[in-house]
Amino acid sequence: MGEMGKCALCAEFGRKNRIISKNRHAFSVVARWPIKGGHCLVMPIRHIADVSELTGQEAKAVFGLISALQKALPKLYGKDAIVIQNPAKWRSEGHIHFHVLPSKGAIRHLFEKYENTPFREEAPEGIMEAETLKIRSALEKENSD
Ligand SMILES: [Zn+2]
Repeated sequence: MGEMGKCALCAEFGRKNRIISKNRHAFSVVARWPIKGGHCLVMPIRHIADVSELTGQEAKAVFGLISALQKALPKLYGKDAIVIQNPAKWRSEGHIHFHVLPSKGAIRHLFEKYENTPFREEAPEGIMEAETLKIRSALEKENSD
């Protein structure tokens, strides 16, 4: 069961007329503050803040609902559905959730417009290797702390 009263997203789980889909560990709702029509949120029933806290069963449950929405939304809205998950800093609720929404473009299109990045530009091998080392060593440092 959702832990009622913990946050606004936990409270959504108690509103049966607002649940789009659910399974044993996850549920989906229409976003209360939608970016656009068809904007859905998928989350674990349990109030947790981070992806790393998902159990294997919860992860499977969440991605099962995401997958179903990604199939259904294009039929309803005529656009493919993208999936986005914000870091805690950008979330209005601490409860981890994934945004699934119809989009006329891919995530690349969004970055191209919002961050003025090239739509698709192949990175030179040396840049990719440098990035790999940088991120790998950050992960190793993270894991050793
Ligand atoms: Zn919550």
